Amino acid sequence: MLILLQGGRVVDPAHDRDAIGDVFIEDGRIVAAPTDGRRPDATYDLRGKIVMAGGVDLHSHIAGSNVTLAREIMPELPALAAAGGVDIAPSPATWGSYATGLRYAQMGYTTVIEPALIPTHAIEAQIELAAIPIIDVGALGILGNDDYSLGLLRGTGDASELQDYVAWTLSHAKCLGLKVINAGGAEAFKFNVRTFSLDDEVPDYGVTSRAIMRAMQKAVTDLGVPHPVHLHCNNLGVAGNADTALATMEAAEGLPIHLAHIQFYGYGKEGPKGLSSAAPRIAEGIARHKNVSVDIGQVMFGQTVTISGDILRQFDGRNAANPKKWGLSQGEGNGTGVVPYKYRAKSFVNAVQWSVGLEIMLLADDLWRVLFSTDHPNGALFVRYPEIIQLLMDRNERARWLERLPQDAREVSNLAAIARELTYAEIAIITRAGPARLLGLQDRGHLGPGAVADVAVYVERDDKKAMFEKADYVFKDGRLVVRDGAVTEVTFGRAYHVAPGFDSKIERRVADFYDRYYGAKVSTFGVPDDIAARPHRFAKVPCQS
Ligand SMILES: [Zn+2]
Repeated sequence: MLILLQGGRVVDPAHDRDAIGDVFIEDGRIVAAPTDGRRPDATYDLRGKIVMAGGVDLHSHIAGSNVTLAREIMPELPALAAAGGVDIAPSPATWGSYATGLRYAQMGYTTVIEPALIPTHAIEAQIELAAIPIIDVGALGILGNDDYSLGLLRGTGDASELQDYVAWTLSHAKCLGLKVINAGGAEAFKFNVRTFSLDDEVPDYGVTSRAIMRAMQKAVTDLGVPHPVHLHCNNLGVAGNADTALATMEAAEGLPIHLAHIQFYGYGKEGPKGLSSAAPRIAEGIARHKNVSVDIGQVMFGQTVTISGDILRQFDGRNAANPKKWGLSQGEGNGTGVVPYKYRAKSFVNAVQWSVGLEIMLLADDLWRVLFSTDHPNGALFVRYPEIIQLLMDRNERARWLERLPQDAREVSNLAAIARELTYAEIAIITRAGPARLLGLQDRGHLGPGAVADVAVYVERDDKKAMFEKADYVFKDGRLVVRDGAVTEVTFGRAYHVAPGFDSKIERRVADFYDRYYGAKVSTFGVPDDIAARPHRFAKVPCQS
């Protein structure tokens, strides 16, 4: 069936396209305009509308044991329900899997990456991901605090074994890339270490955070995994931690690295309260290090819950829990901290955080490397994206928000002086084209022939929040799934992963390790192909080595 999307403003920055035109869809893919005079089977008149590729979110916590714990602790978190106009039976987990897929689709998102899959809990996470409708997914597997990796890095193991271990883990857990969280910090926390920076050593192992990060970068690069190491840096949320982020950019020594939720590292120590925006320094650092990409982790005022494998920092943050309840767990290499939090516009600290994220995005010289996220739900629920897009596109709206903020917060931030308003093309870069490219998902994030027919259509409005809250049409794999902002068909997508090759000797070594220290078979957490009882659930993304 040939579908014609006719006469909309097609915003496709991957092809430098921003003009009124047509898009053709056939068999789930974007195709070139037919030259044989064939007439479309269906035509959509898109005059006055904006046509973009489906949104791609590269950092959103939507599945896995940490998210489950957060749902248990905060069932009252503002529901994502009323999702897509489809009735969802009220339940304690209305921010659960089903609502997640529908709400993302409603906003025009079609691919979302869970950035913190614990390899030993991979089955649970992949089953939950498979329960999320409509969107395609992927997951980043966490290493860097686990005893096997640290044992290899102690000096006895060689780099090739670590590379095999990374490859085996990504293949076994069906992950799209590697996540490293406060490298060595969770292990150090077991020794009661409370601050852990780039050159601190993990007790017992004698390896620094820097060395862990570098070894993981080398392994991922040599394996040809398209997505660089996705790093959660040390010292999250600490005043003055812009120094840590900048030192980490240097430490990468030119190898690709992605720094997650950079807003939480954008803090200086200037001003009477010892906290200030360091966004200009961060933006300058990103501009100078072409091997560095970031996502923002924008904060928005309101109730949320923070979920993080950075147990050291979450333990520190537990006293700020609002409401007063929290949960921490500590396991093999992967602690979890769940701390409910309410960002308040009247709070000096929260106002600075809110400003820092926007500043970094608006000061970016290359938006292909400065990508959109709220680190859902850590900075804000993903349903707040349309408000953030509005703030990026409308300086008057920013001025209205700034008026609500404490004067002392405005004095240590730079937002009021920034006039830039992002264009549709720039929004498409940070919400689609950029993340797709960085993840190695070559057939999405753009509207060129051969791309998967994931397309979002928005009615152009001055009110960008209203515009991006509800897509007019969303096509997933060429099927219409959203119309007038409401979900019309509930489909199920695919899970993307890499499967880099490894020396098979690693399988026996890892099996012996788990058997000896955990009494567990590695097959108990390997992800089988038929896990979702749906054919073609998993799709491989090629490595480049
Ligand atoms: Zn995160």
